[in-house]
Amino acid sequence: MKKISVQVIDQCLPQTQCGLCEYEGCKPYAEAISLGEANINKCLPGGIRVLEQLGTLLDKETEHLIEDMRLKQKAPSVAVIDEQLCIGCVKCIAACPVDAIIGTGKKMHTVLAADCTGCELCIEPCPMDCISMQLVDKPDTEIEWQAFAAHAKKNYIRKKERIAAQTHNSRQTHKQQVQANTSSEEAAKLAKQAYIKAALERVKKGRS
Ligand code: SF4
Ligand code: SF4
Ligand code: SF4
Repeated sequence: MKKISVQVIDQCLPQTQCGLCEYEGCKPYAEAISLGEANINKCLPGGIRVLEQLGTLLDKETEHLIEDMRLKQKAPSVAVIDEQLCIGCVKCIAACPVDAIIGTGKKMHTVLAADCTGCELCIEPCPMDCISMQLVDKPDTEIEWQAFAAHAKKNYIRKKERIAAQTHNSRQTHKQQVQANTSSEEAAKLAKQAYIKAALERVKKGRS
């Protein structure tokens, strides 16, 4: 198999970040393909289009995989929330890899259709079973597919960076709290020692 960089392989993938390829997202799948560890027929949202692109890129035969992919490939879709049933638990927001759901705690949530990649990752965590998928038109041209993927990737990276920053900030806050607690414990210990010392000195003076 031809050796192609992860970045170039990743550029062929739809950036839906759904995990249907059994990898954590498009880039890990691209890495596995690049290492020769994964077959090129695992991206169901990419379907025949991506399979053929990967075949050409990596100089691999795809003819025998096309029929199976025709049956398994996923049509583009977006999530829709039944706002009458939504209890605003925010579980779908946490699950969405591209920040395509808006809403706050106890308020109804809505999907931003233009940002939804159709990954379906919000469906399983919803306790009210109020998210469903609705088929949408496929992009017509390769340029439109590329624009879809670029938009999804930008939102995916932005969410990852935001979560990383939040995790970093909460770790820092925790560290500062631990340091503040340690300082006040230390101050209390020193005050106690000073109090005992002063008391002992008073006793000594009383005896002399
Ligand atoms: S879009 Fe394709 S490559 Fe990306 S995570 Fe989903 S199945 Fe894997
Ligand atoms: S709204 Fe649901 S289906 Fe759409 S991108 Fe987010 S998690 Fe995926
Ligand atoms: S997970 Fe379901 S119930 Fe909870 S906020 Fe999302 S749509 Fe509403």
